[in-house]
Amino acid sequence: MSGRDAGPQLRRRVTVLGSTGSVGVNTLDLIDFARSRGEADVEIEALTANSNVALLAEQARKFRPRYVAIGDASKKEALIDALGGLDVEIGAGTEAVDEAGARDADWVMAAIVGAAGLKPTLNAAKRGAAIALANKECLVCAGDVVMDAIAKHGGALLPVDSEHNAIFQVFDFERPDRVSRLILTASGGPFRTWAKADMAKATPAQAVAHPNWSMGAKISVDSATMMNKGLELIEASHIFPIGHEKIEILVHPQSVIHSMVEYVDGSVLAQLGTPDMRIPIASTFAWPDRTPTPSARLDFAAVAQLTFEAPDAERFPSLRLAREAVQRGGVYPAALNAANEVAVASFLAGKLKFLDIAAVCEHVFNDVGRRNGPEKLSSLEEAMAADVEARRIAGDAIAAKAAA
Ligand code: NAD
Ligand code: MG
Repeated sequence: MSGRDAGPQLRRRVTVLGSTGSVGVNTLDLIDFARSRGEADVEIEALTANSNVALLAEQARKFRPRYVAIGDASKKEALIDALGGLDVEIGAGTEAVDEAGARDADWVMAAIVGAAGLKPTLNAAKRGAAIALANKECLVCAGDVVMDAIAKHGGALLPVDSEHNAIFQVFDFERPDRVSRLILTASGGPFRTWAKADMAKATPAQAVAHPNWSMGAKISVDSATMMNKGLELIEASHIFPIGHEKIEILVHPQSVIHSMVEYVDGSVLAQLGTPDMRIPIASTFAWPDRTPTPSARLDFAAVAQLTFEAPDAERFPSLRLAREAVQRGGVYPAALNAANEVAVASFLAGKLKFLDIAAVCEHVFNDVGRRNGPEKLSSLEEAMAADVEARRIAGDAIAAKAAA
């Protein structure tokens, strides 16, 4: 295509929700790289953070967004000071972050962690933006609502999560009936080979030390419990029209194959790469084109072997809970997600033992189950109500464990 000589092919107005996190920082790094090589002509509409004033201000000085929002309203004055008179609109508080999604950008990176990212992402979906989705909890919590909004308003969902991005690259959306299986690969996390008695004593520092990926604290703990793969199962069931019973989880400790699609004729297509989030981010940024990244290339001879094993359901009960949640549908996934967020935060604060994360999730799951039928999720309000209820039950269960 000779047009490539005529200047940047990628003209985008971009918002990064959660710009100070691991995915957010990688996103801005990739944009910087693409801009510096003349590959992209990017205007930044909005950047948001929860509390990291210093980094948000530094990013604002470098990327000159029209709008910045800080979730923690008590940090507003500090943000104004740190911005030192920079010409930018400033918002503070939850609504200000939600507003960032509603502002005019054609590509929105959803990289807030947890259910807190749901409203701004939904606001972007309602404008018909292309949504690069890292924030898997959004789909876990209210997948039907988010996917319906994207379809109704003519937007696109571009998965950033490496497994879903891999599948997205090789999935035949025109003939989903010709897909026989999705294989979601999992590294197995830092405790893949640990005995259960050792896992019982695991510390937050051990849990966040992921063998292959460098990520935020919450998703790192989710990888250690394997709840991350459970949430990804639910995420995949919303993105790919195939049915959760055809989605399998396979442990692949090298994290080279990011996931696979098997077709009815027995062919298996996979996407491979080094464990660097800038690769899936670049794929969503340039989609349906491609753009170079500074990421390391796979050295197959150095990797030498790729190994696989079945996940251990006994040591990682989160996988069973997630499977049950997706089977039952309705408010179950939202309740499971909320319970997990509360339990992981308590574990990171040193107030809950590692194996009790899944125990709290199971308790909430059963409790919510007693009061809810297996209906399809009908509204955002229903998901949010389940989220609030599950957080309360999880908090009570954690307090009871601490008192015991
Ligand atoms: P992180 O903790 O490093 O960053 C989270 C971002 O969200 C930060 O900018 C933070 O300020 C913001 N945030 C947190 N709580 C908020 C709140 N209540 N209101 C507003 N903003 C808030 O997390 P991360 O590792 O970058 O992960 C982000 C999302 O991407 C998660 O959903 C995670 O599961 C998913 N993901 C991450 C990776 C990875 O490599 N890190 C890979 C795949 C998927
Ligand atoms: Mg993933």
